Amino acid sequence: MIIALNSLRIVWQKGLFILVCSGLMAYATAFVNNWHIPLLPALHSFVLIGVVLTNITFFIERRERFAFLNEILVEIKSHELSRINRHLITIAREDALSGLANRRAFDDTLIIEWDRARREEQPLSLLFMDVDHFKLYNDTYGHGAGDDCLRQVASAIKKAVLRPADLAARYGGEEFVVLLPATDALGAEEVAERILRTVDSLAIPHKRSLVSYHVTVSIGICTMLPSDKNSIAIFVENADAALYKAKTSGRHCLKHYIEPPMLNNFYFKH
Ligand code: GH3
Ligand code: MG
Ligand code: MG
Repeated sequence: MIIALNSLRIVWQKGLFILVCSGLMAYATAFVNNWHIPLLPALHSFVLIGVVLTNITFFIERRERFAFLNEILVEIKSHELSRINRHLITIAREDALSGLANRRAFDDTLIIEWDRARREEQPLSLLFMDVDHFKLYNDTYGHGAGDDCLRQVASAIKKAVLRPADLAARYGGEEFVVLLPATDALGAEEVAERILRTVDSLAIPHKRSLVSYHVTVSIGICTMLPSDKNSIAIFVENADAALYKAKTSGRHCLKHYIEPPMLNNFYFKH
């Protein structure tokens, strides 16, 4: 009953069973050999030893169980912590509205890819995109619809960017960027064309747009062979200047900072 009440482990139960058996055997031996052992004091001492040993095993068992539960708790907590950490890292590098990489993730990746391109003497391309007449879109359809429009444009950009090494990010407001490692000017143009077409195919109505009946984007392209003569700041500035060129050329188009035939003489690696 004591064993059952204490729910002791089988190892302790066995120990106590052996103790009880040895007591009975001792008594049987004494009885067979006709030794005169006073029954009551012997029984008392036997029960006392049994109770003391049961309590000792109970406390040891309790301590071990607590230690075991503590170990499990610590493991669960550290597992939960690392899950939260992973989630925080993702949130810190993701744009909440579009689900694309955010500006911080883009800036970090740009430094890494710039250094890699310089080491490997590979061209690096950057697309700068901006939604055309987006202020008019917001004014017409409301800010909520504007947000939804940005989400759709972001998913179109993501769909049009195929290589795993390419990075699509929201640069801010209604501006997006795509970083294309090991991609020359013609390759970048191909991606930009694909983005223009994919955004067009969304056919998001924009009745006050001055370029089309639906939402469109303009894209500026800059391709560089990273070296000591240029820098990340110049690279980004040039892509922005190319976007400005696309805007001033009527929007809903792509423009290179330096047009490919000239650029190819410098940057093509074929
Ligand atoms: P352009 O064709 O020259 O790019 O004209 P635009 O109207 O698109 O450019 P402008 O810079 O004048 O306006 C950008 C607008 O984008 C203004 C701003 O309210 C809106 N915008 C920026 N971020 C967000 C956003 O997160 N959600 C929504 N709904 N609107 C945004
Ligand atoms: Mg803008
Ligand atoms: Mg705009």
